[in-house]
Amino acid sequence: MQGVGFRPFVYGLAREFDLVGWVENTASGVTLEIQGAPASVLAFIESLRVRTPLLAQIDSVDDLEVPPGGDVDFRIRTSTAVGAATASVSPDVATCADCLAEVDDPADRRFGYAFTNCTNCGPRYSIVRAIPYDRPNTTMADFRMCRECQADYDDPTDRRFHAQPLCCPVCGPQLSASITDTAIALRRGDIVAIKGIGGFHLAVLASSDDGVAALRARKHRQDKPFALMCLDLSSVERICELSPPEAALLTSIERPIVLLQRITGVDSGIAAGVAPHTSELGVMLAYTPLHHLLLTELGEAIVCTSANYSDEPIAYRNADAEQRLSSIADRFLSNDRPIHIRVDDSVARVVDGSPYLVRRSRGYAPAPLSLPWSAPRPVLACGAELKNTVALARDRQVFLSHHIGDLKSAETFVAFREAIEHMSRLFEIRPEVVVRDLHPDYLSGQHADALAEEFGLDEVVVQHHHAHVAACLADASHAGPVIGVAFDGAGYGPDNTVWGGEFLIADLTSYRRVGWFSPVAMPGGDAASNQPWRMAAAYLDAIGEPEPEDLPAHRRNPRWSQVLQIARNGVNSPLTSSVGRLFDAVASVLDVRDESRYEGQAAIELEQLVAKHERGTYTAGVSSNDGTHTVAGVDLVSAVLADLRRGVDRGQIAMRFHRGLAEAVVQVCERIRDESGLDVVALSGGVFLNTTLLVDTTERLTAKGFAVLRHRRVPCNDGGISLGQAAVASACDRNGLLGQSRRGRLVVGS
Ligand code: ZN
Ligand code: ZN
Ligand code: FE
Repeated sequence: MQGVGFRPFVYGLAREFDLVGWVENTASGVTLEIQGAPASVLAFIESLRVRTPLLAQIDSVDDLEVPPGGDVDFRIRTSTAVGAATASVSPDVATCADCLAEVDDPADRRFGYAFTNCTNCGPRYSIVRAIPYDRPNTTMADFRMCRECQADYDDPTDRRFHAQPLCCPVCGPQLSASITDTAIALRRGDIVAIKGIGGFHLAVLASSDDGVAALRARKHRQDKPFALMCLDLSSVERICELSPPEAALLTSIERPIVLLQRITGVDSGIAAGVAPHTSELGVMLAYTPLHHLLLTELGEAIVCTSANYSDEPIAYRNADAEQRLSSIADRFLSNDRPIHIRVDDSVARVVDGSPYLVRRSRGYAPAPLSLPWSAPRPVLACGAELKNTVALARDRQVFLSHHIGDLKSAETFVAFREAIEHMSRLFEIRPEVVVRDLHPDYLSGQHADALAEEFGLDEVVVQHHHAHVAACLADASHAGPVIGVAFDGAGYGPDNTVWGGEFLIADLTSYRRVGWFSPVAMPGGDAASNQPWRMAAAYLDAIGEPEPEDLPAHRRNPRWSQVLQIARNGVNSPLTSSVGRLFDAVASVLDVRDESRYEGQAAIELEQLVAKHERGTYTAGVSSNDGTHTVAGVDLVSAVLADLRRGVDRGQIAMRFHRGLAEAVVQVCERIRDESGLDVVALSGGVFLNTTLLVDTTERLTAKGFAVLRHRRVPCNDGGISLGQAAVASACDRNGLLGQSRRGRLVVGS
């Protein structure tokens, strides 16, 4: 990776072992030549691997002997732009402790300077315009280094040696407003647009009820939780429960937003409107000197949310931000360092002691994922429709983009096309194969078609849930075949129903659907996705309780009978096997929520309700026929209704439902194992962001002798789809399946 202090490290080592020669960055990695005593050369090579700097990671070393040159010292050569661009650009890195110490030191010339950085930290991906990663190819090109900075840059013993974004108060970017004034404004409840690494945040004092309410109103965002930014771990500990792995994730150089359990029973001073109806809080730590200075001055946490209207992409250009945010923000804290590519904050949680990504973006993107298989030809995977990411595959690497978002917004679709162009240029990947989802209406898919047409590329069409399972396989470096369990909200099924509760026997080149949840009508189609009560009506109708007078959801909705009619006559009511929709139905029956104001809200709140120590379980019938298995999701709804009428605590009911689902997974997997001999299960799809379900399912499967693959490096939701698509297309290409396809288009099936 470039920009991680590798050349200075090599320089230091060469000096230490008394070697002469040179080192340089090329587009394909680092090339170096050393000359000296044989023992020293060996010691050097050994140290190269063992003492690798913090941010660097050596994927491979190729060496060869060359005749001695006439070198008299060791030099760092200026970069050349030749060679295939296999080197990668580092993600943006949180400020290091050394830089923070300087920012806090009144005697240091960078005291209080908001843009302090070094080879160990600072912006990278967000400021790179092209490779190789050198200053003229970044948005720092227009800032001419002052004499002192130049001296730091040229000094091989300095932490800033060849740090491309290096700068100081004399020569570097400047803030548009004072930090003190901004802190005063925040303290009185103002909403401030703050320019960060990958875009603008909207910030407001986390303790201000009025400020938070105003932010929600102006941003048109109803219930979706806001993230908080805290100065340090001790301020987080006052608000949330914090385990050692969670603390490690919070302080990691990637600095994601970490989803944490709030401390209950004490007044944390956080406004209720920050994250209504949930016991979790998304928290991140300050990750730039600016955040550090502002939060130190302020002395308390701020809400820090992407600067945009509802589903639009985050604002990142100064002029655009001033225009778009003028009606939201009371004031700005901007600066004159341009952001080249917008990068949202990442989101993660800790599950069973390990990080589990919810959104992989700043800090992680565009670090390539190394796979154990190679892509014979470069691949572009266009991803899904919601939570879109794109992926570029070359050789054994997949470059997964930052979070792009929901393509239905016109602005996001523009960002999607820009991301494809930027990444192809940056990594010099010219795709020869393009991949799309099977869904005919996905904009990402239509764009893939257009690219295939325009450039004569081979096109691969991958079914949504096959892509989910493939993403999990790629994440775990497992080639399959496995039993893939893909649970999510919705994906296009080739039988014209909406899939989302699927059991597939899958490897990377094919899949066979061997199990599913019994389909139920989705009255009103997409309308049912954000109106859980519609799914409750459909499920209750299916169990012969169409008009339960004792149910609040029924009493509250005057359109209930009408929706029943729609469900029964099938008008605009596709059938769905979606487990996401089953969660919605149960949430509505339990009176958790009739309408979701953001994706997955009902399911999230249903999980929040669970009584952790409940050991009861519902049973869903599984019927098998000719090697396929169906789960009667309706049985779970019946059980929920029966317990509710018996007066059982809703928390217990919620837990029994979760456990019933997990048990149904095991039942089906055992039957599939009996028939196929497969004993590895991959769990994927957005429903597996539900930790209760994920952990319980894993435990039950493990107890029955299954090996369980879970997501680790990429999210299980649609943010991971592009990785799965890329893995499938490369595997098909390796197996020569693309050449056999007609007109260069392959629809991957069984
Ligand atoms: Zn630093
Ligand atoms: Zn300077
Ligand atoms: Fe999905």
